[in-house]
Amino acid sequence: MTNPSTTRTQVAIIGAGPSGLLLGQLLHKAGIDAIILERQTGEYVLGRIRAGVLEQVCIDLMDEAGVGERMHKEGLVHGGFEMLYHGKRHRIDMNALTGGKNVMVYGQTEVTRDLMEAREAAGLPTVYEAHNVSIHDFDSTRPRVKYEKDGVEHTIECDFIAGCDGFHGVCRASVPRNAITEYEKVYPFGWLGLLSDTPPVSDELIYVNSPRGFALCSQRSKTRSRYYLQVPLTDRIEEWTDEAFWQELRLRLDDEGREKLVTGPSIEKSIAPLRSFVTEPLRFGRLFLAGDAGHIVPPTGAKGLNLAATDVKYLSSAIIEFFDEKSEAGIDSYSQRCLRRIWKAERFSWWFTALMHRFPEDGPIVSKFQEAELDYLLNSEAGSRSIAENYVGLPLNFGE
Ligand SMILES: Cc1cc2nc3c(=O)[nH]c(=O)nc-3n(C[C@H](O)[C@H](O)[C@H](O)COP(=O)(O)OP(=O)(O)OC[C@H]3O[C@@H](n4cnc5c(N)ncnc54)[C@H](O)[C@@H]3O)c2cc1C
Repeated sequence: MTNPSTTRTQVAIIGAGPSGLLLGQLLHKAGIDAIILERQTGEYVLGRIRAGVLEQVCIDLMDEAGVGERMHKEGLVHGGFEMLYHGKRHRIDMNALTGGKNVMVYGQTEVTRDLMEAREAAGLPTVYEAHNVSIHDFDSTRPRVKYEKDGVEHTIECDFIAGCDGFHGVCRASVPRNAITEYEKVYPFGWLGLLSDTPPVSDELIYVNSPRGFALCSQRSKTRSRYYLQVPLTDRIEEWTDEAFWQELRLRLDDEGREKLVTGPSIEKSIAPLRSFVTEPLRFGRLFLAGDAGHIVPPTGAKGLNLAATDVKYLSSAIIEFFDEKSEAGIDSYSQRCLRRIWKAERFSWWFTALMHRFPEDGPIVSKFQEAELDYLLNSEAGSRSIAENYVGLPLNFGE
């Protein structure tokens, strides 16, 4: 059994999801030490099926972190997506509408794997299965983190704590309640997701507004599909056989989709609730929240992972500036800069969710409003451009 230890590092990062791992890598590139503490095992983190669409800023960050090689080889560049309503498809030509911008389909599991492997290859410290993590004295210049590993308590002394521990993490929960404001909207439905090793129904993503509810035909590669169905929050995953899923998806698609859909056994199936959530501020003395620890979006706009990446960009730059230039300007403006970007992505994700889903409390008149809005947006260049511009992601310095 190991003995209790006290270690010193510059940045203690809580959470080895995409935020924590990307931050660790960017700091390492700048010669700044960090230790990552993760509650789960590495295999568990890699097994979580989540996001799959990367914006250009996220792609650029993977390159900056030196882990972009496999992504460029295996990721699929998408210059558009389709929207299906009233039985008809309309293509949003993102590339043409945004002056050449695209997104890339590359799974969050792959992003995580690339970052984990780079960290391991560089011999950087990550403590998996770190239990009872607690954070202390972040209102001083000498914060500390405590955790237990194999039943032994350890302490890390550091300059900064990065709270990259997701929505249910310990960092946000440790902030005094009177120092934090939380904004939240919970949606009255969830997304039932199914992953299968079958070729995608289309080369591009299809967002479906159907009288039976929303559906999304997404993908992870040319041989792996990810499909989603809007379902009531009361549905239980055990009730959804693969056959029932495929049958319901067919009913929400158009004739072409029904014809081309290739079905097969699920390799993962789960129901995720939808939530809009923002914490203000994101900095508390020497503690910074990044990614899902500070905000959640409904996945409709494909923004969760991308927002996490841009928080980390702002945070790594601020920390590097602190150590290299002895300037606190970056850490002082961290929260404000992130929130400005976050609220725009929150707004888009909420709006896109409202446009594409059936809300149980809405009557037929709201479906008519949705149809009219879709008819306007998809037949107006200005309307389509607004969707495209938000979907590919606003520039990091938008509005500055
Ligand atoms: C089911 C689901 C589907 C999603 N689909 C999409 C999508 O299609 N598109 C999209 O853009 N986004 C999607 N998202 C959102 C996206 O996955 C997240 O925004 C992204 O994972 C955020 O990364 P993160 O590192 O900030 O948080 P997380 O990925 O949640 O990582 C946080 C890490 O911290 C660890 N941790 C938590 N508490 C502690 C603790 N006390 N001590 C130590 N470690 C701790 C956790 O185990 C975890 O590994 C989805 C999310 C979910 C849950």
